[in-house]
Amino acid sequence: MEKRYIYADHAATTAVSDEVLQEMLPYFQEHFGNPSSIYAKGRENERAILDARARVAACLNADPKEIFFTGGGSESDNWAIKGIADKLEQKDKKHIITSVFEHHAVLHTCEFLEKHGFEVTYLPVSPAGLVSPADVEAAIRPDTALVSIMYANNEIGTIQPIPEIGAICRKHGVLFHTDAVQAIGNVKIDVKAQNIDLLSLSGHKFHAPKGIGALYVRKGISLPNLIHGGGQESGKRAGTENVPGIMGLAKAIELATENIPAKIAKLTPLRNQLIDGILKIDQTKLNGDREKRLAGNVNISIVGIEGESLLLMLDHYGIQASSGSACTSGSLDPSHVLLSLGLVHEVAHGSLRLSFGEEFTQEDVDYILEVIPQVVDRLRAMSPMWETLTKENRKLV
Ligand SMILES: *Cc1c(COP(=O)(O)O)cnc(C)c1O
Repeated sequence: MEKRYIYADHAATTAVSDEVLQEMLPYFQEHFGNPSSIYAKGRENERAILDARARVAACLNADPKEIFFTGGGSESDNWAIKGIADKLEQKDKKHIITSVFEHHAVLHTCEFLEKHGFEVTYLPVSPAGLVSPADVEAAIRPDTALVSIMYANNEIGTIQPIPEIGAICRKHGVLFHTDAVQAIGNVKIDVKAQNIDLLSLSGHKFHAPKGIGALYVRKGISLPNLIHGGGQESGKRAGTENVPGIMGLAKAIELATENIPAKIAKLTPLRNQLIDGILKIDQTKLNGDREKRLAGNVNISIVGIEGESLLLMLDHYGIQASSGSACTSGSLDPSHVLLSLGLVHEVAHGSLRLSFGEEFTQEDVDYILEVIPQVVDRLRAMSPMWETLTKENRKLV
């Protein structure tokens, strides 16, 4: 078996693509001017940012004035949720609805607001990893300020019924935010048609650099300033703009959204082969709905092994992947996402996430399917838990 190097952790981050890098390079040296400066070098960059804002907006069917550049997904989530909470608290709306399996940028922001007098409803998700629109509707109260439900889950890749949830929120006059960080380039997003009021995105998940993102805020909604200072981003997020990052983001989102159906058509059969191949191993379970999931996401629990041992072994074989458990996230608890599906700790601990992009090939699939069964056999042979389960003839999944 010839060793291959396979990066299968796109949900964690992606490399800056050549096209994006080329778009950015002139803005480091030749076009270095401060967009707020009055001379040509400044005004050119002001125009470049205006143009980039329009390009990002066009990819979401938003208006340019509705796009605010930020430092990434976490910042956008924080601004959206705390901003709306701050505004609507004055109208005695102190209730927020979200789901139990959001990204921590949303969950920890909600927990922060709970300490400041807000009440938060954390909706459960189905065993398949889907939020029910009916649950959202049932949770809405007269004092609900905001509903925040992610577009696609970063661990299990499930795609939420965002248009349905958007319609329900609009019907009840409640604002709706979605963390779409994982969805950009994988799902067709139309903020108008889908009744989305606020949307977070992050460049480094689709081949722009780390540290640049955006928040879409529907016209008519005015968020409090995030950073006080100069007049950048309509005076709401002060500080000299990250011009190269902004230019890279615009290019990256255009490339990511230009042919989503082709990407889905290419990746789905590869994903399904991986799922079917890994599920041939005894005592394994697919996490998240099989159909309503990102074309480049596989998340499978493998009973009797520890996620981090698996990742280290896979790394040895050149496969870079992720797991929802323990050391990888710097904590000893299994992932809140996997637990939210109702998995017991033992099963959640042995999970593997493979997330891949357009460069993924059939050869990659074949190699991964050759390596994983061998690695699982070796780890299970050393696992006291597997030994006990086998002796007692007990099945966990
Ligand atoms: C990566 C990610 C974020 C955080 O984005 P950063 O740009 O790294 O701050 C937020 N939400 C989801 C769903 C993500 O996958």
